[in-house]
Amino acid sequence: MKILVAVKRVLDYNVKARVNAEGTGIDLANVKMSMNPFDEIAVEEALRIKEAGKADEVIAVSIGVTQSQETIRTALAMGADRGILVETDEEVQPLGVAKILAAIAAREEPGLVIVGKQSIDDDSNQTGQMLSALMDWTQATFASEVNIDGDSMKVTREVDGGLESIELQLPAVITTDLRLNEPRYAKLPNIMKAKKKQLDVLTPAELEVDIAPRLVTVKVEEPPQRKAGEIVGSVAELVDKLKNEAKVI
Ligand code: AMP
Repeated sequence: MKILVAVKRVLDYNVKARVNAEGTGIDLANVKMSMNPFDEIAVEEALRIKEAGKADEVIAVSIGVTQSQETIRTALAMGADRGILVETDEEVQPLGVAKILAAIAAREEPGLVIVGKQSIDDDSNQTGQMLSALMDWTQATFASEVNIDGDSMKVTREVDGGLESIELQLPAVITTDLRLNEPRYAKLPNIMKAKKKQLDVLTPAELEVDIAPRLVTVKVEEPPQRKAGEIVGSVAELVDKLKNEAKVI
């Protein structure tokens, strides 16, 4: 069985996002970019499934600018077998990403596609669900535990009230939640080896996928500044302020 893993290049989670001067999005000039954290979890899970002898090949796919090759190389250094970059300078929204992943899945015929539950830049939380609908495959979203047994699998999902266990048939789409695993770091020798691994570059046109955006971003703004806190000297002062200044008691 092949596993397809989607890896997106996003603003590094340690970098404070700043709105660009035009107010149309985040300023990405000269900022550190990394693999979307939920996608690191997706790669890790795919590797664990392969290491357990339940898959033969892990293929990392990214959609975006040329530099997304670095994101794919990170996945290859973690242990993925080969990579595919679908290169475009255009903005690709979740529906476009899902269509591209579906086109690649049609070529590669994986038993499993693992994507993150959401990208930390657009926070859409849509791609996995759209992919499952486009391919008419079953899906297990927000997975915190995955156990594959033959052509079926048991998945524990993080839901509002706690955990939900489901059983489903492969092929399927999984979206990863934070507690699924702790991703490994790529070791230096593996980073060197990853440079030699196969990385194919395609375009949306070659896959005959229409990635035209369906949504228009009207405006992006910084959240309002929060007022600074105040340290009070005593409980009596606190009570006085709550009563007479904040007027909440
Ligand atoms: P989203 O629906 O944008 O929140 O993204 C959910 C997941 O879809 C991400 O965690 C990735 O696994 C995958 N994904 C979204 N956009 C891309 C992209 N441009 N390239 C590769 N994977 C992507």
